[in-house]
Amino acid sequence: MQSGRNNANRIVLVILAAVVLAVGAAALFLNLSQAPAKATREVRIYRAGKLYATGHLGQGEEIVVRGEDGEENVVAFTENGVYMKSATCHNQLCIGQGEVTLENVSTRFYRNEIICLPNRVTVELVLTDEEAADIPDV
Ligand SMILES: [Zn+2]
Repeated sequence: MQSGRNNANRIVLVILAAVVLAVGAAALFLNLSQAPAKATREVRIYRAGKLYATGHLGQGEEIVVRGEDGEENVVAFTENGVYMKSATCHNQLCIGQGEVTLENVSTRFYRNEIICLPNRVTVELVLTDEEAADIPDV
């Protein structure tokens, strides 16, 4: 009788352990399957019409774009977007354009881009075909 109850307890423990492991594995799998989509979201930086550099959202890094006449634009990355942190241009319009994120891209005037006309710098948050199709034509 006593050993039978012990066996029952052991079986419950094994089942509990299996459930905990399964939940943990599921959580890990969900994390892993969601992470790459975010991490690989690409940002392309063009200067004078040519690709200057590429970066990725979520790294918290900055890319400095230097022109031939001392122009300088600092592009900063956040968890969800990208923005022009500083620029040597006279009008500072690129900084006023704020941050591009996947959430605000459909309502921004410049859509998925930040444009610095004086320094000829364009920052583009690369969209999937589906996302691009979702943006209404202006
Ligand atoms: Zn500018």
